[in-house]
Amino acid sequence: MAESAEEFYARVHALEPLATPSIAQWSVFPWEVRDGALAPRPVSPPAPETSRVGEQDCPACSPDPASLIWRDDLWQVRAMAPSGLPLVLMLEPIEHLDLPHLDDDQAAEWGRLVARVTRIVEGLPNIARCHSGRWGDGAEHLHTWFFARIEGIESTKGSLAIEWDDILPPGPAEIRAADLAEVARKLATHDGHALV
Ligand SMILES: [Zn+2]
Repeated sequence: MAESAEEFYARVHALEPLATPSIAQWSVFPWEVRDGALAPRPVSPPAPETSRVGEQDCPACSPDPASLIWRDDLWQVRAMAPSGLPLVLMLEPIEHLDLPHLDDDQAAEWGRLVARVTRIVEGLPNIARCHSGRWGDGAEHLHTWFFARIEGIESTKGSLAIEWDDILPPGPAEIRAADLAEVARKLATHDGHALV
């Protein structure tokens, strides 16, 4: 069971003001301080596309076994390193494929798994929503993100939850481990094997 909103607030508020995360230094970070006020950065000039991770020696094709929480013959779910949101998961095909490469059967299975992971995570106590997303600018191997947020914490609503995931300190490790095990157990009631 994830922390309640009250438990989360008490833990984090005691640590404020929080440090600025490294995303503020990323080249794609869209904000800067101009004349003492927050303002958009200038857009970058045209440039050749940079390569993506996995175009050679793909790490997703040989994932860290410690990160895997569930696997069947075609798909795997990994837990990302502890971060500010209570759970951040990644669904990947075991084969080196990107989203446009999926045939109709693989795409149908992807859709079923996205719905299944979302349903399971949103069924955990104290979790209000499980956001999902596929960007694919960083890595070539298809990776679908899932971001869980705590019920009753307005700051982490919507797409900026991803920013808060980098800003907030990780929660209690034992709570996260129990929630990961519950997600894996429930996924395995449909298919595949729980690995935590
Ligand atoms: Zn790969």
